[in-house]
Amino acid sequence: MGVLVAAAPKEPFATHDLWGVVVAAQANYYWVRLHGGSELTGEGMLPAEVRSSKNNPLLLCYRRSRLKKIGQQVMVGDRVLVEDADWSGGRGAIAAIQPRRTVLDRPPIANADQLLLMFALAEPALDPQQLSRFLVKAESTKLEVCLCLNKQDLATRQTKDDWQQRLRQWGYAPVVISVRSAPSLEPLVHRLANHITVISGPSGVGKSSLINRLVPQADLRTNAVSARLGRGRHTTRHVELFELPSGGLLADTPGFNQPDLDLAPQELGQCFPEIRQRLTQHRCQFNNCLHRDEPDCAVGSDWDRYELYLAMLDESIVQQDAAQKRRDEEANFKVKMGDAGQIQHEPKLQAKKYRRISRKSQKQTLDELRYDLPESLEDLEDLDEFSSDWE
Ligand code: GDP
Ligand code: ZN
Repeated sequence: MGVLVAAAPKEPFATHDLWGVVVAAQANYYWVRLHGGSELTGEGMLPAEVRSSKNNPLLLCYRRSRLKKIGQQVMVGDRVLVEDADWSGGRGAIAAIQPRRTVLDRPPIANADQLLLMFALAEPALDPQQLSRFLVKAESTKLEVCLCLNKQDLATRQTKDDWQQRLRQWGYAPVVISVRSAPSLEPLVHRLANHITVISGPSGVGKSSLINRLVPQADLRTNAVSARLGRGRHTTRHVELFELPSGGLLADTPGFNQPDLDLAPQELGQCFPEIRQRLTQHRCQFNNCLHRDEPDCAVGSDWDRYELYLAMLDESIVQQDAAQKRRDEEANFKVKMGDAGQIQHEPKLQAKKYRRISRKSQKQTLDELRYDLPESLEDLEDLDEFSSDWE
């Protein structure tokens, strides 16, 4: 998942423009669902037979070369201006793209409004640690997070109540459903209407089943839970926005069971509603407080996920240190173009080290120094550079 960009100012579009939403990308072509009915202000632009058909038209569009020249990419979820619509052939051209409200990089989707995080109450059993990792990852996108617990038909009343109570303490009000019971889906259908929603969650919790239920023509392959492993295998691949009868759009994400954190230690706290909530009431003494054991910390330790937060914080610090170490090491490598044009990485000559030796013994000759140098020919070629550095 990815980064949210600040809302860009809206460009004025002429009232007779034909516009729609990119619902899928295929090689260099884009499927664009046009807006129909009253939203289509240019009445005359849609032929009568298209206007009267039940569904809004779907056109396979290419990207105008003008857009290519300025490097303007088209993303699934983009609102685009369509020109040269060929109704009988079902083709058109994308001529402009409205400024994006949000951008996710994994999956690549523009203008998503919310993230539907789906877990199951049973089969597989709800694991607080895995759930928290997904929640933190979801919160890091800054999109609105809607937590949904599926398979309530397989869970006891007690399990359901306990989880609802516990999640309230975490700052979430989950929508509890069973894909097998249509009435239980009503509140969810309501939340998805007229929004672009990205659905995420581990394998086997019922995401494909839900999409199939809400969008019968989606026909996603579902994964029967392996009885032995108690989990499913995800088969969904490319990015596509499924169109809900309510007018919303739903995007599936490729399945993954343990999202990597990939967050700086300072950013982690903002991904916990418990911490955010406490910080609205009091401030920590230190601006860069990590809420561990700093004096006068407003967050404290009296909350359910405190230990989980500490573990994730440790992980994030270790990751940050490792990344810093890699950057330091890379700075000691130089990139050299090989003869065949391929890039070769080789250790930089440690000029500093030789300098130190040279200071120690002023009588040291260049031959003696050569003795310390790596013996490969390429490295010897660098002697000029090295000796000028040394002077
Ligand atoms: P995904 O990996 O998240 O897409 O999960 P699937 O949609 O493939 O579902 C995994 C398994 O759980 C399938 O065998 C579904 O039939 C089953 N399943 C999905 N939702 C429910 C539910 O609400 N109740 C029950 N009992 N089984 C469900
Ligand atoms: Zn603090």
